Amino acid sequence: MQTHILGYPRIGSKRELKKACEQYWSGKILLEELLQTGSNLRNQNWNIQKEAGIDLIPCNDFSYYDHVLDMTLTVGAIPIRYHEVIMKENSTELDLYFAMARGYQKEGLDITAMEMTKWFDTNYHYIVPEFIKNQKFRLNSNKIFNEFADAKQAGIIAKPVIIGPISYLLLGKEKEPGFDKLDLAENLLPVYIEILEKLQEQEAKCIQFDEPFLVLDLTEKTKEKYKWVYGEIRKKFPKLKFIIATYFDGLKDNLSLAVSLPVNVLHVDLVRNPKQLDEILNTIPETLDLSLGIVDGRNIWKSDYEKSLYYIKKCIEKLGSERVFIAPSCSLLHSPCDLDFETNLNPEIKNWLAFAKQKVDEVVKLKELANENPTNKSLMEFAENKESLSSRKMSPLIHNEVVKQRVNAVTETDAKRKNSFRLRKAAQQKVLQLPLFPTTTIGSFPQTTEVRAWRAKFKKGELTAQQYDALLKKETQRTIRWQEEIGIDVLVHGEFERNDMVEYFGEQMDGFLFSKNGWVQSYGSRCVKPPIIFGDISRPNPMTVYWSHYAQSQTEKWVKGMLTGPVTILQWSFVRNDQPRSETCKQIALAIRDEVADLEKAGIKIIQIDEPAIREGLPLRKNDWENYLKWAVEAFKISSSGVEDTTQIHTHMCYSEFNDIIKNIADMDADVITIECSRSQMELLNAFADFKYPNEIGPGVYDIHSPRIPSKEEMIELLQKAKSVIPADQLWVNPDCGLKTRHWDETKKALISMVAAAKESAVVFENN
Ligand code: GLN
Ligand code: ZN
Repeated sequence: MQTHILGYPRIGSKRELKKACEQYWSGKILLEELLQTGSNLRNQNWNIQKEAGIDLIPCNDFSYYDHVLDMTLTVGAIPIRYHEVIMKENSTELDLYFAMARGYQKEGLDITAMEMTKWFDTNYHYIVPEFIKNQKFRLNSNKIFNEFADAKQAGIIAKPVIIGPISYLLLGKEKEPGFDKLDLAENLLPVYIEILEKLQEQEAKCIQFDEPFLVLDLTEKTKEKYKWVYGEIRKKFPKLKFIIATYFDGLKDNLSLAVSLPVNVLHVDLVRNPKQLDEILNTIPETLDLSLGIVDGRNIWKSDYEKSLYYIKKCIEKLGSERVFIAPSCSLLHSPCDLDFETNLNPEIKNWLAFAKQKVDEVVKLKELANENPTNKSLMEFAENKESLSSRKMSPLIHNEVVKQRVNAVTETDAKRKNSFRLRKAAQQKVLQLPLFPTTTIGSFPQTTEVRAWRAKFKKGELTAQQYDALLKKETQRTIRWQEEIGIDVLVHGEFERNDMVEYFGEQMDGFLFSKNGWVQSYGSRCVKPPIIFGDISRPNPMTVYWSHYAQSQTEKWVKGMLTGPVTILQWSFVRNDQPRSETCKQIALAIRDEVADLEKAGIKIIQIDEPAIREGLPLRKNDWENYLKWAVEAFKISSSGVEDTTQIHTHMCYSEFNDIIKNIADMDADVITIECSRSQMELLNAFADFKYPNEIGPGVYDIHSPRIPSKEEMIELLQKAKSVIPADQLWVNPDCGLKTRHWDETKKALISMVAAAKESAVVFENN
């Protein structure tokens, strides 16, 4: 039996990498210092794993920005626009690398960054490889060899981790028509062979290819390419040991393909899909060993040793212990670094958790326990684990009978508005009296350094609650006044009191916990600290009524109440693993429902429930979509349906692919939906038009992700486009998303033009 780790978090337990990168980018430290930080982190990570007793320790899992971008640099798929960066005098490999990641705007050059998108169903974002028709590849970086050599120096024969060739191609994007990226495999293969030759020369023994696409729906052609590529690789390297790593779901109908690939070890995710084990054991050929992804690499809960051992022993029985590997389910990139740094957590709850460093220990413990004669020490640890798990199961901290009963009592009527949209629309118009093309914003206004400084001071105790409150009130009032002045129809309070749209709510609900250092890389140097949902969720007190009510009291115009939806809160948290996600989501939905009711009672007539994460929660396999969408849509409806017809419910989503889920979005039955649209030049409105989406829509006319200020004319044109596909009386006018990251001067100019664009368009429309 052997233990291995698929990848270790690279940011450092104190986010050292983030700090070093940002300092390097702003010119505060030299390249040498950044490289030193990188080297220190790699060595620290290796030592943690070595001391824990891991048999196969990975290298090349480290990255200064993103491991997919590392691969792009390694295989030389550098888009033409960066060649000017390469040509610069003294330009280093890392300069080029960061230019690709972040764009390059200096010394007379203005080159855009490469696109970024989500890594499967995680919250990690990778840099999308760009391919052209006759894309050439060549070995272009020594990163992987250098890391292998460094590890060797530290006394470790590491296992280099590489994204497998098929997954690498599938992660990329065709930047011109007329070819299929899969056909680039022929061009790409020689570079992989060169990499393997060099690693073999360096005396690497075992290589891990990450092929997560093996858990997705694959075309026949993709399957053929898999067979071809790995067949070729095997032919060239009869002696190297290859591991193919799959994760984030079961292999399902790709199982026969996966076990037919001529490699030595197949890694499977038994956390996401334990059910697949029996079938795997029945089909696995004698030439293939099995790596069990048994410790959850994506969540923060302690492993259940008893359950894990059941699976491990089953494998040993069938395959013999020499053919079994034990590992976390996926790279530990997705878990926070080290629980030991959490000194303020409730000790009872802390005893239920494991971060990356603790998970490494768990992998080793499981191997010891699976031995025929485990030591006394191991047996004691087994008993402790059992006790900790049962203390969690029984703990009054996680159980709230009232919440459970309420969830069980939810009926279909709770998830349905009283009347149809047609009737509601008339009732709302009577009360709200909004003009044609009503204008609004998505919620937040600029979170200036000042606003953030107040919050920091308040948290440190340098400002009293009263002082903080007074400052926020002034900012809110100023924002209300300004929106009135420029003639926006539906105002927002600005969200100045919020740090983050999930954290703000999590902090006020029972069942949530916040770590001090539980950072996880989101993209590049950006890290997030997801809340931990540990117990039944309830809302002891109103969460937003104070600020919404205050804002509404300052104006005669309507102020929108602003909430984060249940699916988004769920999606951006670490969730409990002792009940289905759908159950947890329902609990959050009920808490939000109470908040909606309280806002309505406080006289708020328009309430927005943001669900930007509903799409990213989609399961990886199409077959599983329906079930997810059913409970996700239901959760939204539970949260939004307890109101009178006259209360207008908005929702907001900010992504640009609706075609495949438009029906479900319509099922959410929000009176108004605002969506990101301007970057696609309204193209995605077609999905709504084709579907004949019945409710109201606010397609964003202003791209808030860029500091660029759009002109009135541009926005009129976008509105024109919108009008050509959606009936005018269904349209709202608003930016793409919240304005939190923008500066006031840009925001002001852009919104003044936006209001003018809406008013002019309305006049033109009425005169026709
Ligand atoms: N109401 C939130 C805001 O304006 C919405 C943010 C989001 O969609 N991500 O900031
Ligand atoms: Zn948004």
